[in-house]
Amino acid sequence: MQKILIIYTGGTIGMTYDTDLQTLVPFDFGKIYDRIPELKRFNCKIDFYTFHPLIDSSDMQPKKWVLIAKHIYKHYDEYSGFIILHGTDTMSYTASALSFMLENLSKPVILTGSQLPLEAVRTDARTNLITAIEIVSTHKQYTDGIKEVCIFFDNELYRGNRTEKYTSSKFDAFKSANFPILAEAGVHIIYHEDNFLRWSKKQKFRIDEKLNDHIALLKLYPGITQNFIETVLKMPQLRGVVIESYGAGNAPTNKTFIDALQEAISSGIVMVNVSQCSGGSVELGKYESSTQLQQIGVISGGDMTTESALTKLMYLFGKGLRNTQVEKFLVKNLRGELTVIS
Ligand code: ASP
Repeated sequence: MQKILIIYTGGTIGMTYDTDLQTLVPFDFGKIYDRIPELKRFNCKIDFYTFHPLIDSSDMQPKKWVLIAKHIYKHYDEYSGFIILHGTDTMSYTASALSFMLENLSKPVILTGSQLPLEAVRTDARTNLITAIEIVSTHKQYTDGIKEVCIFFDNELYRGNRTEKYTSSKFDAFKSANFPILAEAGVHIIYHEDNFLRWSKKQKFRIDEKLNDHIALLKLYPGITQNFIETVLKMPQLRGVVIESYGAGNAPTNKTFIDALQEAISSGIVMVNVSQCSGGSVELGKYESSTQLQQIGVISGGDMTTESALTKLMYLFGKGLRNTQVEKFLVKNLRGELTVIS
């Protein structure tokens, strides 16, 4: 019989309304079978592990990603797959970070959550959780197997590091603009196997527990001040910066802006350029407004999401790599997070 481990970190999915306190409080998953008796009908054993303290995912931190990764590592051989119940607000960051930290993964790790608590009448928690369990317990009957970190939400299974949270009010909270879905749940669960991540080498599963959080995100906007840019770039111990640029990677062309970036790069900071657009890719040099970035050594983040670029930098610098190696891996597709155009 298959075994699945559900790791509950917090978020709306696990909340229940406490009538005495008149607020949402975390739900005791020990009682999950009373709430969702359908779970007993799965031909698999489900274990639960609850993180303490349970958190709203707005409080997610890299050190908590390490705890999740370590827990998966510790129980890796016991389970056929893992489900992480997580708040939606930072779910894409966690999925991206875990996709890098869990190296040579050969089992599904599926994050899910919900927009409404489990006990709400129109809740999406029930279907999200039940279908995620069904995917982990049955995917191999129909496919060669899911071996990556995914997000399952509103009947779609996504590659986690391709997602972003897109709406806070509708049920389809996530989108993956630059990569197609891995599976969709309707009357049947249809797997799109061609989109699954495949490994050529068979290496032992391991985790990388070191993340370097001396990374910054600089979102450009008309009116951004030089003072703000320089304050970010002069942060002590800063190693890498994700620049969220416009369109296909465009940025202001004024000399003071370019000089500030160039000075930061010369002082040893790695800069990667991703777009504020959800879909499409950075193409440095396509417009004159990105040519200078290319000339001073800003790296193109291609079609990576901001969440992926940020956590990839944390992961690469966490490995203690030199800047040239970090730059080399930034433009390589490590976990399906980047479309490499050859
Ligand atoms: N604030 C909540 C969280 O991210 C929202 C949710 O769960 O959807 O933890």
